[in-house]
Amino acid sequence: MRLAALIISFLCQKSLNKVRDTSNMNIIEMTIHELHSALKSKKLSSLEATIAILERIKAVEPKVSSFITVTPEQALASAKNADEQIASGHCNLLTGIPLAIKDIFLTEGIRTTCGSRILENFIPPYSATSWEKLRDRGAVLLGKLNQDEFAMGSSNECSAYGVTRNPWDTTCIPGGSSGGSAAAVAAGEAIATLGTDTGGSIRQPASHCGCVGLKPTYGRVSRYGVIAYASSLDQVGPMTRDVADCAAILDAIAGYDPKDSTSVNMPVPDYSASLKEGVKGLKIGLPKEYFIDGLDPDVQKTMTEAIETYRRLGAEFIDISLPHTDYAVATYYLIATAEASSNLARYDGVRFGHRAEAGNLLEMYTKSRSEGFGTEVKRRIMLGTYALSSGYYDAYYVKAQKVRTLIMNDFIKVFNDVDVMLTPVAPTPAFKIGEKINDPLQMYLSDIFTIPVNLAGTCAMSLPAGFSANGLPIGLQLIGKPFDEETILRAGYAFEQATEWHTRKASI
Ligand code: GLN
Repeated sequence: MRLAALIISFLCQKSLNKVRDTSNMNIIEMTIHELHSALKSKKLSSLEATIAILERIKAVEPKVSSFITVTPEQALASAKNADEQIASGHCNLLTGIPLAIKDIFLTEGIRTTCGSRILENFIPPYSATSWEKLRDRGAVLLGKLNQDEFAMGSSNECSAYGVTRNPWDTTCIPGGSSGGSAAAVAAGEAIATLGTDTGGSIRQPASHCGCVGLKPTYGRVSRYGVIAYASSLDQVGPMTRDVADCAAILDAIAGYDPKDSTSVNMPVPDYSASLKEGVKGLKIGLPKEYFIDGLDPDVQKTMTEAIETYRRLGAEFIDISLPHTDYAVATYYLIATAEASSNLARYDGVRFGHRAEAGNLLEMYTKSRSEGFGTEVKRRIMLGTYALSSGYYDAYYVKAQKVRTLIMNDFIKVFNDVDVMLTPVAPTPAFKIGEKINDPLQMYLSDIFTIPVNLAGTCAMSLPAGFSANGLPIGLQLIGKPFDEETILRAGYAFEQATEWHTRKASI
């Protein structure tokens, strides 16, 4: 990181004579839409915006550590390019917007570690489709963001590259596994970011850091070039400062990709177009299994107030039940670990990743994997291998698949009666660094409200809905019908227009 800081300051100074004084413009807090109108009206150039954000990264990284790799040279070059595009009149919403992406997305020629030692020196030969789509629209890449190793975790404490800290309180975790993606948005280190969500990894950190995070329906966004954790659950999604930005990024990344056989070939709506239609008459379900005793009182209070806000806006509430919710965490930790144990077999020192010195092939495999993987990843590979082993396959893996179907059916049934569901994102606000790291079960339970959505394969969004007594953001979750991201975005937008939570900034 010290080297990156030096490069940033060198490059910024070199370019300074070409840029105006932008200190009164508060670039680091802008949304995509605000920066876009500043770029279009030439109040700002992309180069000026990019430099301001690189300077911000330099200033706050020692406290936050959102990034694994900063790419200032590429960022400045793409910003200059974007400025030429803008000057020639070829400008779309994302042209010249400085973004950063989780280090799970392959980026051609740029190191991609997935938070793991085993990929410390991995330079991908191609890029993820989702990132390519943003890049092709002129977005500027600031760098690659910290995450739990192979996206396994809820706190960012499982990264091989140090813990990312919550910009609202640096003694707290930012959430995980896309903790770097959430912290960067909250700390003014990127205008928006991309994350991935297998069991909550976009929504939970978005909730803990006070940003908007959307997990699209499985199949809506291409997973090509995204390092696989659990292939039947993984999805890519935006993390942004407001709902309109979230819709804008989804507009850019959604859609069929022939390179991802699980991406769905269905028309993509214009997500930004229907944001303002309001929630009058919208039927919102409140699943009783998500409003349990033991929910943190601040989270409970935030939910009660959010329900009131929606009532005032004309939505109707319906009490519902998702009866198999209790089994979701256990089901997830069988299916996700089983898939992970298979996906991570490729890191063997031959095909991919760190290779240890050894006397023979078997020893080389063992040593490479022992040295390259961290504790949590090893735990999950062992759990998953066990669940898939002959003799236990039926009792664990097959059983989990059957329960997954029951969970999915709960969702299908409920969506006959309601348009969306409203729930907490996490049972508590961000917890302290170190608080749960030695208790995997407690850590796994922090995803209790997000995991069922991945098992059901549908879409959900986290958006800022309040603060705890000690000043930590609390998100609310809106769960939508499969491929109905439009409705949760519209409902989120209506809430945002009626509240001011999303406008508060962390004072880091
Ligand atoms: N925290 C969950 C896990 O560790 C979810 C992670 C994710 O969504 N990538 O598996």
